[in-house]
Parts: sequence; structure tokens; C-alpha cells
Amino acid sequence: MSTGFYPGSFDPVTNGHVDIFRRAASLFDRLVIGIGVHHGKKPVFSVEEKTKMLETELKMISKTENIDFDIVTFDGLVVDAAKAEGAGFLVRGLRNTEDFTYEMQMSGMNGEMMPDVQTIFLPASPGVQHIASSLVRQIASMDGNVQPFVPGHVVDMLREKFAG
Ligand code: ADP
Repeated sequence: MSTGFYPGSFDPVTNGHVDIFRRAASLFDRLVIGIGVHHGKKPVFSVEEKTKMLETELKMISKTENIDFDIVTFDGLVVDAAKAEGAGFLVRGLRNTEDFTYEMQMSGMNGEMMPDVQTIFLPASPGVQHIASSLVRQIASMDGNVQPFVPGHVVDMLREKFAG
């Protein structure tokens, strides 16, 4: 059984993440989504809220894809979290040259620390290439329209979060 581990902040889940979930679903028997918890960095959404967003999306994808999804949190090294889940593959999305430069370096160092966990890069699909959680947060905080960038239920959660 092949297991992929897809780590991220998911603050919030965007259409770009969902695109990666869908495409990774066709590659593995099991995909584990790892919510990274950084001490000292306070996210907009709690782990519980992120889990709710992820569950809603993954339930939808499970209807058409034959894959098991799991959601975990981790606060240490990505390679340790992947290993703990029995994952042989790390999944990362690439949007642009900044992602590429950073992710190449990370994959090199992760590969040295844990040679039996391979990194797989999925290029962002054209329709979602420009989407970043950080910009979604910024737009939502200024009462902008985030509907083109995130699933509908996430639009509602952002609205609630930034209301008033
Ligand atoms: P962000 O970088 O937007 O804050 P994350 O830290 O949650 O998001 O990113 C987790 C992973 O998802 C990374 O590999 C990142 O490159 C990928 N990713 C994020 N947004 C997109 C997108 N629009 N298209 C493809 N991959 C993406």
C-alpha cells in the first residue's frame, strides 16, 4: 500500500490545496494531510477549524476517488511526521520559481535525513497557480471577495472570522 504525506499550514484551505488533494488521490492508496503546528506563530484558524475544512473537502473527493484520507497534526520535522504515518512519499505543490527554489532545497535536506521518503512535486494547475493562503487572509481581512480562491464553506468561515 502506498502512502503519501502532504504537509502544509492550510490557513485556510484554498482551491490550490484542493487541486493537489485531487491529483494526489490518483497517485496513492492513502493520503495523509499533515497540519503543521508552529509554536510562536499564531494562525488565523485553529487546528479544529482547519480539520473541519479539510474533512469537508476530502469527503467530497472520496466520493469519486478510491483513496483513504487521514488528517494529522505535527509540530516537528516533516520527515518524522511522514515516517510516523508510514508514508514513503512527501507531496508538495509548486506554483512558481520561489516555491521551486525553496522546495528543491527542502527536498535535498529531507532526502539526506530520510532517504526512504521521496519528495513528489505536483505543478499547480493553471487555474489555481496564483492562489496563496497568505493573500487570501489578507484579502479577507480587508473585506475583499475571496470566493474565487477558496471553497464555499471556507468563504463562510473567513467571513465569520473577519466579521465586525
Ligand atoms: P501557502 O504556501 O499558500 O501558505 P501551505 O503552507 O498550506 O500554503 O502550502 C502547503 C503546500 O501546498 C505547499 O507545497 C504549497 O506549495 C502547496 N500549495 C499551496 N497553494 C497552492 C496552489 N495554489 N497550487 C499548488 N500548490 C499549492
